[in-house]
Amino acid sequence: MNDCVFCKIINGEIPSTKVYEDDKVLAFNDINPIAPIHILVVPKQHLDSFMDLEDEELLVHIHKIIKQIAKEKEMDEKGFRVLTNIGEDGGQAVKHLHFHILGGTKLPTR
Ligand code: 5GP
Ligand code: ZN
Repeated sequence: MNDCVFCKIINGEIPSTKVYEDDKVLAFNDINPIAPIHILVVPKQHLDSFMDLEDEELLVHIHKIIKQIAKEKEMDEKGFRVLTNIGEDGGQAVKHLHFHILGGTKLPTR
């Protein structure tokens, strides 16, 4: 597990540009952004993917933090995108659950 890049970011072994942090989640800028705003929201607990997310409180908390970040970054009015890639076919490169927040421009519809 502890070759996990996001666990290393969470424990400070790899630096990141922090957007938000509490005891349960960390949000930081994506190193290779595909939109003017590209933030990753990750639970501090290592979960491989969305399929391993069973903790409803954590899910609700992540939802709340995503909305909070969207408001702080002033994307709430114009819109933004939230996505999580799952597994190989889903294009998940980092096997630690994360939600992408994309915005700051009109995003392609597909
Ligand atoms: P996935 O394809 O797994 O959904 O997305 C992984 C994301 O993590 C990619 O957008 C990639 O740019 C980002 N990423 C990978 N390694 C690092 C890193 O060391 N630091 C940061 N900030 N982002 C990373
Ligand atoms: Zn991890």
